[in-house]
Amino acid sequence: MDIFSKLAELSLNSLNKRNEQALKKLSIETIRDLLYHFPRYINTLVSDDISKLKDGDNVVLRGQITDKKLMFTRSGKRILKAVFFNETGNINLTWYNGFYVAKYLEEDKFYEIEGKVKKNFLSLEISHPQLKKVSEENIEKKIQFDPVYKQTRGLNTDSLQKIISEVLKKYIDLVDEILPEEFIKDKSLMSRKEALLNIHFPESLDKYFLARKRFLYEEIFTLQIFIMYKQYFSNLEKKYVLDDKKDLTAKYIQMLPFELTKSQKQVITNIYNELKEGRPVNRLIQGDVGSGKTVVSIIIMLYMIDNGYQVALLAPTQILASQHYENISKDLEKLGIKTALLTSSVKGKKRKEILKEISSSDIQCIIGTHSLLSEEIEFKKLGMAVIDEQHKFGVLQRQALRDKTHIDNLILMTATPIPRSLAMTIYGDLDISIIKELPSGRQKIITKVVNSPILRDKMYKFINKKLKEGTQVYVISPLIEESKKKTTHSAKLTYEEYKTHFPEYNIGLLHGKLSNDEKSQIMMDFLNQKIDILIATSIVEVGINVKNANVIVIRSANNFGLSSLHQLRGRVGRSKEQGYCFLEVNEKEEASEFEEKGEEAVNRLKILEESTDGFYIANKDLELRKAGQFFGDKQSGLSDFLLLDIQKHIKEIEEIKQYVKDYLNRYKGIISINALIKDIEYRMQKEDK
Ligand code: ADP
Ligand code: MG
Repeated sequence: MDIFSKLAELSLNSLNKRNEQALKKLSIETIRDLLYHFPRYINTLVSDDISKLKDGDNVVLRGQITDKKLMFTRSGKRILKAVFFNETGNINLTWYNGFYVAKYLEEDKFYEIEGKVKKNFLSLEISHPQLKKVSEENIEKKIQFDPVYKQTRGLNTDSLQKIISEVLKKYIDLVDEILPEEFIKDKSLMSRKEALLNIHFPESLDKYFLARKRFLYEEIFTLQIFIMYKQYFSNLEKKYVLDDKKDLTAKYIQMLPFELTKSQKQVITNIYNELKEGRPVNRLIQGDVGSGKTVVSIIIMLYMIDNGYQVALLAPTQILASQHYENISKDLEKLGIKTALLTSSVKGKKRKEILKEISSSDIQCIIGTHSLLSEEIEFKKLGMAVIDEQHKFGVLQRQALRDKTHIDNLILMTATPIPRSLAMTIYGDLDISIIKELPSGRQKIITKVVNSPILRDKMYKFINKKLKEGTQVYVISPLIEESKKKTTHSAKLTYEEYKTHFPEYNIGLLHGKLSNDEKSQIMMDFLNQKIDILIATSIVEVGINVKNANVIVIRSANNFGLSSLHQLRGRVGRSKEQGYCFLEVNEKEEASEFEEKGEEAVNRLKILEESTDGFYIANKDLELRKAGQFFGDKQSGLSDFLLLDIQKHIKEIEEIKQYVKDYLNRYKGIISINALIKDIEYRMQKEDK
């Protein structure tokens, strides 16, 4: 029995079928999973002095309410305002749509509030604070730290705490230290055991913060070890010898209907040179949407094939993988190279056949999704993997690919520019190439924010005109179906709406709940112009290339980050034709995750009207959002960090990175802490699922 034992097998008193299921939903199955499910109240700073608060502080305060006012904005929204006070000062509280809170909030009663302080010119404000009534006899008691865990159905904080408490009591001795003794000393860290106890049941605030620090350091340390220790060995020696044959690439370049841009050539030459030297290539290619990254990767892959290796191209979605296959296989066939598409929907006999041909090296170029990572594949001689739209993959997944395939050469491509400092720290020792220019003849995509009925009418007329000219249209919605809470446009409603608006055209509906075959079919129909208007969710965000589609409408655009919008917009204007992008904002919309009100949303979106520079936009985006969000959804792997915030903790990352480097050098790359290796392996295997 160890820390990776399954909870279900421990016969815990506090665990029943119901909360076991709920835990499973949070992907908590083992002792380790449970103990590393940290409470969220983590950021809370307990204070009883309002006069000392600064902008951005998270606080818990006790006091009374006065001056409660329910108001209406011009657009008919309800706003609830109240003043919170105690002997140290006062703070304004605000709730949008705070109708229900209004009933609960009584003047002169005592409350405990929790929230983030915003400092205005002369006053302090908290919007949407958490609120709890406090009885008068309790008001003098010390504030308790009630750990707040992520909410899940079927599991309240109470029962979760009971489970954690029981597990801590019975099994804390299974917890081994995973950080080197000297590191703990050097950085004055709490031991792993003590930190686990204090992060769930803090003895004091100080200890709580020490526990947090410990896990932050642990998180960075393990990440850096993980990234760097492979690097340590691969940097020691020259790995392979290439004959530097370029027949295939030369033929391919001749086949292209266009001239490569200077930037493209530059990147290709750099990688050639690196490969020729026999050093492992580990390179991130950044290039704005439409800059022609695919062609660059094909040329590099052909070079590897010409020199006797197999290559793999990985894409984050089935749609994108199939599209790459459609585009690439024809050209490569002409050059006598066999290509295969391998995704999870390739099954049975066909799959077996492909696997066989991969292991015999009959197939030289394999295109696919994550399933390429699966164990069953044995490459005869894999020389390089290219990962497209790499920001959709996690750091750990990327490493898993490396480990499983023993691949030396890895090329990553992304259209989401990552500020250099960030990339350097997170991606360890990746080299970075940038494709700076777009192919010539591309026009700026004309972008308009549509935020009134008049503009919307105009837009419909314009779309009609374009459809008549034979252009195809994308319409993107943030959601598949209407949800009760938000008034955001859904794809399904949009589909109905467009059917009545444009009855004479063929309309398709594409979303993530369709089967993979259905998805591919719809994309194919759109590509072959059987569908005129494609209604979709943002699953078309990455990489889709339909040259005849030159208008894109993005509904409830305020629900997307700027970089995502830029990517979506990049679906059009992929030829010499002028592209158009409409960003719809519904004024009645509730605040999105960006918590902006109507005008603010419009201002943010206007950045896209003015600029088509992906790097500029990404930087703006990063200013407005946290890095975790910036990198996209949960899949990114980067937002999976428990405590680490790559923007906030740059200093710690750099410091620990240096430490790990020295550490590896000192011990010649040998890690003798068994528990550490086990822990990293466990996390990898978990992320892989
Ligand atoms: P992205 O960098 O967004 O992945 P793609 O590789 O899909 O872009 O390329 C976008 C389009 O531009 C493709 O249709 C591709 O054939 C075309 N393209 C690539 N390089 C050039 C070039 N040098 N000149 C003209 N068109 C190009
Ligand atoms: Mg692409």
